[in-house]
Amino acid sequence: MIEKIPVSTRSREEFIDITGQVREAVKKSGIADGLCVIYVPHTTAGVTVNENADPSVSHDILAALGRLVPRDDPDYRHAEGNSDSHIKSALVGFSHAIPISDGDLTLGTWQGIFFCEFDGPRRRSALVQIVPAAREEA
Ligand code: ZN
Repeated sequence: MIEKIPVSTRSREEFIDITGQVREAVKKSGIADGLCVIYVPHTTAGVTVNENADPSVSHDILAALGRLVPRDDPDYRHAEGNSDSHIKSALVGFSHAIPISDGDLTLGTWQGIFFCEFDGPRRRSALVQIVPAAREEA
């Protein structure tokens, strides 16, 4: 079963903390041990796991990605004008797998799951699939 988390972004580039919604999907599944797979089905967005205690961290990551990948580059060929968004999506990645233990995500104290928008604002989604751990036969 796949749970769809709707995400409405408000600016061109932004990180949105979806930890609560993913955790809710894990609880709803009733699975105590397994793997939580988060997948973003977009070519100009992504998902990352990083610090959610200090919002400056998300800001700094976005700023650094902006320095690495300029918005305009005369060498870009893609006609839509959002090559930087595609490249940032490729760098950040579009999926993560987080182990589930005792019915909850095994995130570290300072870790959160972020939907990464690189070409907003748009209506987006993140997909969550909970995979139960294989049972060992006695
Ligand atoms: Zn494009």
